[in-house]
Amino acid sequence: MSDPNESRDKTRAAAPIVELIEVHKYFDALEVLKGISFSIHKGEVACIIGPSGSGKSTLIRCINALIPVTSGTIRLGGIEVSDPNVDKLALRRRVGMVFQQYNLFPHKTALQNIMMAPRQVLKEDAAEVEERARRLIDKVGLTGKEDVYPGELSGGQQQRVAIARSLAMRPDVMLFDEVTAALDPETVQEVLSTIRDLAHDGMTCILVTHEMGFAREVADHIYFTDAGLIVEHGPPETFFSAPEDERTRRFLSQVL
Ligand code: ADP
Ligand code: MG
Repeated sequence: MSDPNESRDKTRAAAPIVELIEVHKYFDALEVLKGISFSIHKGEVACIIGPSGSGKSTLIRCINALIPVTSGTIRLGGIEVSDPNVDKLALRRRVGMVFQQYNLFPHKTALQNIMMAPRQVLKEDAAEVEERARRLIDKVGLTGKEDVYPGELSGGQQQRVAIARSLAMRPDVMLFDEVTAALDPETVQEVLSTIRDLAHDGMTCILVTHEMGFAREVADHIYFTDAGLIVEHGPPETFFSAPEDERTRRFLSQVL
């Protein structure tokens, strides 16, 4: 029997891992995303920057099907995210998301927080999950903090546990929405450093950030959003040194 997906599989290496086509999102009468299209390939880092209220969080939440799009298409790997009947569990296994608020379970240790989803959602083997969780604790630079409760960790440390918790599901894509915005300045760098390591390891990342220096350093592509549209995009070198759009120039003059 011929497999209808066969030809697609052959081209998958070259196909984008995340693709958005003309995505619109309304909240009642308010149009928050006004036709967003972009794609990202495996191993790339895309940074989304733009003024507050321009739709960045909405965009990230649509990619993870936390909220439905009004129209347009979002694909992630083989999954049609914008399909109202999308298999959300299948999607959650492919996409990790980290927010500004880390929302760790306060009565679980760092290690238990990291083990929870693979154990309870995926029903994976306890010993295997624990071994992976310990490796992830090391990876995010928290060796020795395995049995510590979130309340005893700094904001930056908690955020790194949150990143490890997402990684424990072995996602193909990581979404970060202003993950350093609520942190004390001195802990911002340790979290950025964890994300930098991930990017260097080849993790596909889409990240919303106000850390322009970091975006410039790690991004393959920068997307600048304003009022629900991507008004300018490009590689960081050209984006930061020669922005073309007046709105981009104004924004950069305020944040750089
Ligand atoms: P950003 O992350 O760029 O600051 P958001 O995506 O959070 O922007 O918000 C974009 C716009 O959508 C804002 O005007 C915001 O008030 C509105 N918005 C976001 N979420 C909702 C919601 N659940 N219901 C209604 N309006 C919303
Ligand atoms: Mg936001």
